[in-house]
Amino acid sequence: MDFEHLPHPAPVPGESRQQAIADPGFGTLFTDHMVVIDYDADKGGWHKATLGPREPISLDPAAAVLHYAQEIFEGMKAYKHADGSLALFRPEQNARRFNASAKRMAMPEMPEELFLDSIRQLVSKDRDWAPTVEGGALYLRPFMFASEAFLGVRPARQYKYILIASPVGNYFKSGSKSVKIWISSDYVRAAPGGTGAAKTGGNYAASLVPQAEGIENGCDQVVFLDAVEKKWVEELGGMNLFFVMDNGRVVTPPLTGTILPGITRDSLIELLRGEGLTVSEELYSIDQWQSDADSGKLLETLACGTAAVVTPVGEVTGKDRSFTIGSGGPGQIATKMRERLTGIQLGTVEDKYGWVM
Ligand code: PMP
Repeated sequence: MDFEHLPHPAPVPGESRQQAIADPGFGTLFTDHMVVIDYDADKGGWHKATLGPREPISLDPAAAVLHYAQEIFEGMKAYKHADGSLALFRPEQNARRFNASAKRMAMPEMPEELFLDSIRQLVSKDRDWAPTVEGGALYLRPFMFASEAFLGVRPARQYKYILIASPVGNYFKSGSKSVKIWISSDYVRAAPGGTGAAKTGGNYAASLVPQAEGIENGCDQVVFLDAVEKKWVEELGGMNLFFVMDNGRVVTPPLTGTILPGITRDSLIELLRGEGLTVSEELYSIDQWQSDADSGKLLETLACGTAAVVTPVGEVTGKDRSFTIGSGGPGQIATKMRERLTGIQLGTVEDKYGWVM
């Protein structure tokens, strides 16, 4: 599909942009442009793609997304290499997951090539917004929502796909230091048969109250347990987990439909196996987590995701328990895996797996 390029009446001047990206924070600054692609079941599907100024959008108050939450999104980063080029990390995986989310939410899938093309178009247009600070990248946020004005409960017939970009620094202010996790015992994130494996806004809305509870208790993130037995460790609000044992074994919760299949998770499984470690995707209980931490069998716990790459978990606390992992600081594997992964992303470590585009 051809993208119509719309003129920008007032792009941010270079000097102000440079100032903004010198200390980008996370998710508060946005680039100049956006991509919009419309879908209409009655007009042959995806049609009309534009790359134009980033600006507010207008929506009918009856737009289905505002009532029944038909919405999905993705999160990925473009990394600046030493030669000035920008690299994407496994973007085809984001395209695939976007379509898997679309299917679950009864939304139309988007041809992978169109999704990737939209990313390439925006990244090349807004390339000067990529920060060069340590841990910085251009964060890309593709999303799709039901725009049809209709109050009946059924899948909408009209959708909008929009892609925006945001220069970002480290997700946690602490950078690569370890984080403290709050165990959510009153709230669950996803139930069997629900939408936990889809990247849809509702999952994140459901995580806000427990996340606030975690913050009130001095924690950085929340860990969710399974909805049925409230026993099995699932994932954090925005990251997957790995447990590194003293015998060279690493455990990560399996993709049973209630957790998000992280692209960092998938990459880390490969990298850990490449280090000669045994990675098992198996259920791991909160009791086991505590007893392995207390006995010293558990050396490290790693949280991973696009935003925070690999972040060590130092402490875990909840209403009825509290434990420390290892010394509470970053362990060897977390540090090594973070370096390896960011190295591949930044082009300073050989990309044996062909992950960088
Ligand atoms: N779990 C959840 C709930 C998330 O929101 C994310 C971030 N997308 C992840 C895990 C990690 O996924 P990824 O490695 O693809 O960023």
